[in-house]
Amino acid sequence: MDDVYSPFPWLDELLTGGADTVRCGFADMRRHRDRPGDLPFALSLMVRMDDGIMDSIANGPTRPYFEEYTRVNRLIDDLGASVVGRIEGLGYRARQVPASATANREKLTASFSHKQAATQAGLGWIGRNCQLVSREFGPRIRLGTVFTDLPPVAAAGAAITKSFCGKCDICVKSCPAGALSGKSWSPGMLREELFDAVVCNTWKNRQFAHLADGSKGLCGICVSRCPRGKAARRKVTRADNC
Ligand code: SF4
Ligand code: SF4
Repeated sequence: MDDVYSPFPWLDELLTGGADTVRCGFADMRRHRDRPGDLPFALSLMVRMDDGIMDSIANGPTRPYFEEYTRVNRLIDDLGASVVGRIEGLGYRARQVPASATANREKLTASFSHKQAATQAGLGWIGRNCQLVSREFGPRIRLGTVFTDLPPVAAAGAAITKSFCGKCDICVKSCPAGALSGKSWSPGMLREELFDAVVCNTWKNRQFAHLADGSKGLCGICVSRCPRGKAARRKVTRADNC
């Protein structure tokens, strides 16, 4: 984000990516209906997943992927709780939406789509794999959201309103369940137009639940294969080698 300034150093650090694997952006959510507590703004929190583990699941998930997924979700929830505590300490309201929570078990939807806040905060777009594709890390990330009435202390990021997947359809072709429609995202599109959650979930649970201690299965093939995530890895590797 450009021109970031806030009187709160902890927030500056989050907004400017103080940690190498964490990114954060402010989103103006006043136009959105499903806001908890009618809070007008959102801090979208994004944490990068381990590249070595993500590379290793191109043909199917592994136990380390399940552990990484769990670790990063926990990290986001801890980060969110700490942000909520700081904001409430300033006398404002804040409410966290956990990284991974299914509110409607039949439709497999969450109480709030973190991706909405992330696109609104300018952190990325929704790819053909129905995941948030970050400019920096591709889809190798997990998201959380903190809603608040703390007035934006930094300029809200310019919302991303189009897909940058171009003609790529690698994720669509690599999905073993055939759950991805191949359509290109635009704001306001229903999730069902991009992706069949029931087909994806049935596949994951049938194939991979044993990796997840019998809880809901994970897959991640469409995330691992995305060239945007691999390109991010190449950049890091080059920088590391300099
Ligand atoms: S997680 Fe697996 S089954 Fe689900 S859409 Fe991605 S590749 Fe397909
Ligand atoms: S694999 Fe290609 S189409 Fe799928 S999300 Fe990544 S860039 Fe978009």
